[in-house]
Amino acid sequence: MREIAIQPLNLDTYVRHLAFSSIAELKNYIINNIPRHVYYSSARYQEPGNPVMDEKKWLGSDLVFDIDANEIYECIEKGMVVQLRFCKKCGYVVDQQEVKTCPNCGSELSRFEHVEPECITMAKNHAAKLIDVLEQDFGFTNIYTAFSGNRGFHIVVELDEDYRYMSSDERREIVSYIKLDEQQINYIVRNLVKGLKKAVPLIPRITDGGIRRRIALVLANYVEKDVKAYIMELRSTISYAEARKAYAILLEHIADISKALSIAIDPKVTIDISHLVRMPNSINGKTGWIAVFIKNNDLSNFEFTSEIVKPIDTKLKIKFTVGIPKITIIDTQLKFSKGDEVVLEYPYASYFIFKEVAQVVSIMR
Ligand SMILES: [Zn+2]
Repeated sequence: MREIAIQPLNLDTYVRHLAFSSIAELKNYIINNIPRHVYYSSARYQEPGNPVMDEKKWLGSDLVFDIDANEIYECIEKGMVVQLRFCKKCGYVVDQQEVKTCPNCGSELSRFEHVEPECITMAKNHAAKLIDVLEQDFGFTNIYTAFSGNRGFHIVVELDEDYRYMSSDERREIVSYIKLDEQQINYIVRNLVKGLKKAVPLIPRITDGGIRRRIALVLANYVEKDVKAYIMELRSTISYAEARKAYAILLEHIADISKALSIAIDPKVTIDISHLVRMPNSINGKTGWIAVFIKNNDLSNFEFTSEIVKPIDTKLKIKFTVGIPKITIIDTQLKFSKGDEVVLEYPYASYFIFKEVAQVVSIMR
């Protein structure tokens, strides 16, 4: 019932509207048409292979989330997103995004994007927060998580028949609840005291549910031990003075608390009811790494290592066609000049090959 789409190895276009009646048939197709990327539709259709979208007969869609490290505020702020433009023809490199054509040879410039591994950890934390909200606040149970194979995570909720037919507008409301902007949080915090000057502030606790539960989880890190125990439901009462103080702390740190509450999902992905999802455990053609399926959504068990992302145990001799500034790939700091010939383990070599800044000289077994 799913549409399958691939991007062939040597083409920039997609082959879409593929449909298969069994996994064996799909596997056979992939082996005979080795793709750079493989996707499946978040939607189910009566006729997934029909090339006319309106004639596919939509049968509802999964709820899909994409967390991309280069969209995470802290990652950008710390300058850990590296963006270069380079010329495939002559190796010219520039870090100004507005330069579109090569000043040496007039060719169109390509884009090189990299995020430091610290950002993958940040993305992982956002993904864990998202899973908590999906489970605790929405009660979803049919969730799976995968590393994107590049710089983020995909979280997919397979919805029951009752929810599968949600429109884009309804999905946008879910996005808003998950992304929470500062304005929304300020509104909620102001209403914690219900507008009455003498009222006792109702400090959010983890059993409150909804946004109050999410605020409680963050606020717990800012208050002293006894108040934290109250917020975490380890103590049943709190004094008026303690409550007032906790509320003052909440107001004082509201900007940081808001930032900690916001989950960096890509709204476009979630509201799209015909989104193409990268197939878990397939190889991401931007890096050559496995888009690792994460068992039981247990992100604490996911360690971003070369071991986990490599599909093959081999070394490659590669030659750089473009100079690359000092960047950290997975766990190793690397820097190369144009013309450098080096032998690297597969996950490091494939990263440069698939980003098209180096070419394979030989494969060493
Ligand atoms: Zn050039």
